[in-house]
Amino acid sequence: MARKTTISLIKCDIGSLAGHHIVPKPLMNICEKNLKRAKENGLINSYYVFNVGDDLQLLMVHEKGESNHEIHQLAWDTFQEAAKKAMELKLYGAGQDLLKNAFSGTVRGLGPGVAEMEIEERASDPIVIFAADKTSAGSFNLPLFRIFADPMNTAGLVIDPNMAGGFKFEVIDAQESQSVVVKCPEEMYELVALIGTVERYVVSRVWRARDDLICASSSVSRLSLIAGKYVGKDDPVMMVRAQHGLPAVGEILVPFMHSYLVAGWMRGSHWGPLMPVGLKDARCTLFDGPPRVVALGFQVANGSIASDDEGEPLIADLFADPAFSMARQEALKYASMLRRMGEFEPARLSVEAMEYTTLPQVLEKLKKRFKPV
Ligand SMILES: [Mg+2]
Repeated sequence: MARKTTISLIKCDIGSLAGHHIVPKPLMNICEKNLKRAKENGLINSYYVFNVGDDLQLLMVHEKGESNHEIHQLAWDTFQEAAKKAMELKLYGAGQDLLKNAFSGTVRGLGPGVAEMEIEERASDPIVIFAADKTSAGSFNLPLFRIFADPMNTAGLVIDPNMAGGFKFEVIDAQESQSVVVKCPEEMYELVALIGTVERYVVSRVWRARDDLICASSSVSRLSLIAGKYVGKDDPVMMVRAQHGLPAVGEILVPFMHSYLVAGWMRGSHWGPLMPVGLKDARCTLFDGPPRVVALGFQVANGSIASDDEGEPLIADLFADPAFSMARQEALKYASMLRRMGEFEPARLSVEAMEYTTLPQVLEKLKKRFKPV
């Protein structure tokens, strides 16, 4: 029986430096300290702390399985401690994603975003994790479709007999809190019909159809649906397994060769171009953006992230590459076009999406003055 290893990526915006820009060092230090201790105590086997814009990201590899109480408690306590520090420093939006007070075994539904995957380790298991800022859960629908269903993207769908049976997608209806599993290639058109509506339907999991091997997992939390009002965008995370009967790492990254539009950006109220960047550029400035995404690659090895001789995890910063400069240039071009439109649709999100913002309060003032025509 192959070894079972769990990869947990849990993220939270608990306050940032100079508006919604970046997570400052003192907050990262708290995470480092707590995860280091958890590793020493044997709760987790390895970890990597990073940030994408104002979102703190805790990557943890362990053997406790998904939705494990102790792992989620560790993340929750760490976010609480960091939030306290954020309040001391009067950081912007201190504690903003911690929407509920009582922890009851899982951080799901409390504000933090979670992507988790328990895998049976193969001879070699490359993983790519993605984390985005200033955007929302459905932003990964397009790349996930390309990676696992589009033969023009993923050569393996055509060439590799191990992928011939296609892939199954679990899609969450975030409005009705229900899910459906759709199989590709047979139901490809139905899948696109669903997940093209990115603000409502979110791909949460992907399996290889012939043996139900788990291949991808993404966070699906909609903060506005938890809080009932706008409290910042969801800033999703996802993880994808690669190679050996699954899409190659390059096939997983190629959907990001071009920028595309996602919901989020300034005040979570605008369509904006997604910009793939390396960790050093994962900071949102221009109109609080443009929305950014990072991709980190690593190998899972014996319950851990493969590490160097000092025990430092070996992490590849995949978008820190000139090959993605074209997407970055496109993102700036689209940003310029959209900002020229100011607050006129479609630069601004649809009226349904704006319901969770403060816009209805502004319109309320005019309500009484309307006369029948
Ligand atoms: Mg954020």
